[in-house]
Amino acid sequence: MENAIITSDQNIQNIEDIFIHLKKNRQGIKDTTAKTRIKKLKLLEKYILDHRSDIQNAIHKDFNKNPIETDATEILSTLGLLRHARKNLKKWMKPNKVGTPISMLGTSSKVIYEPKGACLIISPWNYPFYLAMGPLIYAIAAGNTVALKPSEISSNTSLFIEKMIKDLFPDNEVKVVLGGVETSTKLLELKFDHIFFTGSPQVGKVIMNAASKNLSSVTLELGGKSPTVVLNDADLKDASDKITWGKFINAGQTCIAPDYCLVPKESEAEFVDQMQNTINEFYSPDGEVIELSKDFARIISNKHFIRLQHLINDAAEKGATVMMNGEMHEETRYIPPTLLTNVTDDMLIMQEEIFGPILPIKTYKNVDEALEYIASKEKPLALYVFGQKKKDIQYVIHHSTAGGTSINDTVLHINNPELPFGGVNNSGIGKSHGIYGFMGFSNQRAILKNRVGMTGIKPIYPPYGDLASKL
Ligand code: NAD
Repeated sequence: MENAIITSDQNIQNIEDIFIHLKKNRQGIKDTTAKTRIKKLKLLEKYILDHRSDIQNAIHKDFNKNPIETDATEILSTLGLLRHARKNLKKWMKPNKVGTPISMLGTSSKVIYEPKGACLIISPWNYPFYLAMGPLIYAIAAGNTVALKPSEISSNTSLFIEKMIKDLFPDNEVKVVLGGVETSTKLLELKFDHIFFTGSPQVGKVIMNAASKNLSSVTLELGGKSPTVVLNDADLKDASDKITWGKFINAGQTCIAPDYCLVPKESEAEFVDQMQNTINEFYSPDGEVIELSKDFARIISNKHFIRLQHLINDAAEKGATVMMNGEMHEETRYIPPTLLTNVTDDMLIMQEEIFGPILPIKTYKNVDEALEYIASKEKPLALYVFGQKKKDIQYVIHHSTAGGTSINDTVLHINNPELPFGGVNNSGIGKSHGIYGFMGFSNQRAILKNRVGMTGIKPIYPPYGDLASKL
């Protein structure tokens, strides 16, 4: 794998100039019509389609990811958001007339959606194309200028994105800034009108802190531990297929991957068997070792490989049962799909977001115990529930909170652009996708119009005299 981290903070000297140009061009881009913005989105769409194999190759170099998985999770998912945005943009941009209370008769009111201005997008490495393009699509749709800093870790994809944006947009409209933490820090000193960040909750706090100095608005798409509740009447074969897919796609490096499962004590043995069967069906259909499967990705960096290895060793030392479907190999950053049972809260794996192909399975005696456990942790980005009775599923949803939930599935809710995507508190602030993405990059400006000469009801002007006694 040829995945070299971008270390040179190459644009760092020019960052202030880049920002000045983006800021100067705010009005020019604000002036653009829906038609012009749709045209830009179409050009972006064409470029993506024409360079599909370049994207697949870049992501393969970064992760060893199968091109079909790249198609589904990076290219088609991006095109899904883009096509939905261009189809709906005219409607989203239309001013929204609102009612008038009787006390304000004679006036009329509406909400208009104006671009926030010069925006900063900082994206992570795990879906390096989709997570950079998603916010960019809505920033363009809403009529903003943009500085985009993709992750330094998924370097091949970031270099592709840089070239693509250079080919499509002038520097004063959308500009890619390559680099790592130093570059981000420098960007965050500038008074951007909006910052859209996708990454870890720890760095989310750094971003919010920096944004507070300029009172830049923020959308924070963060992460954390997303639980999966398997109810006692769940179809365990169906649940295993869907959990295996959501957990092990991208080798578990998915923000909304099921982080751990909560399973009724009496179903544990059968659930583990079903999970092991599905893992083999998916990644070893001919009985070959999973390491040879072209469909199973690698860990992004040595740092993350070592972190995950440490989580497994720590859990094993503290008494977890480790079911690893093969052997780990540091040279290729390979960690096989791994299930853990007998996990306890003193294990690091139950304390931090796993972000790798390891699934702890915890048992519960009754569903309230499972829900209490979830509530004792930070609010999750996603929560999944598998079961057959509507009432029981509703009970889980009502007694928990999460950014999003798929019922009897995992991950899928991210794919419907009619749904808001994002977290709650520790897992995120603000929403993206569809109209929510457009709104995130728009200022919802209140406009009230009165008639000249005020034929309607008059506000109370001074001098007030003894008016108070008449009210
Ligand atoms: P990260 O927070 O380490 O990095 C994300 C971006 O922030 C990168 O571009 C990086 O250069 C920059 N960055 C890192 N440290 C910084 C600092 N101190 N100051 C300023 N900028 C800094 O995240 P990651 O490791 O790239 O991605 C994994 C995390 O992202 C996980 O927690 C995952 O759950 C989360 N995530 C969330 C979503 C979502 O949509 N909610 C999607 C994908 C990933």
